[in-house]
Amino acid sequence: MSEAKSVYTLSDLRNWESTSSGEEKPARLAVIGDPVEHSRSPQMHNPGLEAAGIDSRYVRIHVLPEELNEALSLMADAGFIGTNVTIPHKGGVHDAVDDMTEVARRIGAVNTVAFDDGKMVGHNTDAPGLKRAIREQFSMDLDDLQIMIIGAGGGAGKAAAVQCAMDHCERLVLVNRTVEKAEALAGELSELLSHPDKLEGPADRLVAIPWDERAMERELERIDLIINATSVGMNRTDPEVIPERLLEPHHLIYDMVYSPARTRLIADAEAAGARAENGLGMLLWQGALSFEFWFNREAPVDAMRKGLHEAF
Ligand code: NAP
Repeated sequence: MSEAKSVYTLSDLRNWESTSSGEEKPARLAVIGDPVEHSRSPQMHNPGLEAAGIDSRYVRIHVLPEELNEALSLMADAGFIGTNVTIPHKGGVHDAVDDMTEVARRIGAVNTVAFDDGKMVGHNTDAPGLKRAIREQFSMDLDDLQIMIIGAGGGAGKAAAVQCAMDHCERLVLVNRTVEKAEALAGELSELLSHPDKLEGPADRLVAIPWDERAMERELERIDLIINATSVGMNRTDPEVIPERLLEPHHLIYDMVYSPARTRLIADAEAAGARAENGLGMLLWQGALSFEFWFNREAPVDAMRKGLHEAF
């Protein structure tokens, strides 16, 4: 039996039969990206596949931007069930699929593909994954909350904002360093956020502001949930996402960053008496929802959670 590789490439896909011959279990699920070596998705999905009794392996495939379309078509030919998609391919795959879910269309990005009878169907599980994580960790639903998203100009921030708008949250404040991107997103979401039941709500239900202390201070008193969708916090030397003095005990703080597990934002929030969670729950639920999209059955969440926690 040959040893399975930890990262495959396009040239492996071109010679898939010989690459995979002799491997213990067939690789029929993957994450594609550039880079992709760092992805912990195999450590989450493989225990899930095992627990569900599915005789397949989940692998990493390094795919360059110019290789994307060929890679997808080779994966379909090789009998892959589906794939996750990470940086920088979420937009490219959105353009490549034959069909997609509403949430993927609204976000303009795909993180999950199902190869279905010669068709490629795209989905975005980052957004509903965030929703499930918030529900699990704070016992709250987005529609009951006044929400501030910091980093609303990036891919994860847009996914979060679209989900909040689709769920008709009480109020949405989009914050971004490059404020023009937050303003453009607010323009895209205004119709989606409006809901007949909420016409009596605040007139400024959707606002875009710069990543600026004064501007955030004016909003934070009314905010229930603060989501950090920037990459700020991944490095110990990063600046504050929000100055500590602005955090209050009534705030719920969701930091999409999960490495390190305890970011400066989380430490500051806890010091202020607020509840705070890192992004591991979102990572878990986006994976669980990908599993459900591929197999049309409930995901083995406990096994996936255990695998993910062991990977960090
Ligand atoms: P992205 O598309 O590159 O967006 C980055 C965002 O962060 C932009 O809004 C950017 O503002 C802002 N930003 C970056 N550096 C900044 C700085 N020094 N000061 C202020 N704002 C800054 O990245 P992404 O894919 O959306 O990912 C964002 C974060 O979410 C990453 O940490 C990623 O690991 C995390 N994430 C977590 C999950 C999960 O499952 N937990 C899923 C997806 C992403 P500008 O527009 O002004 O540049």
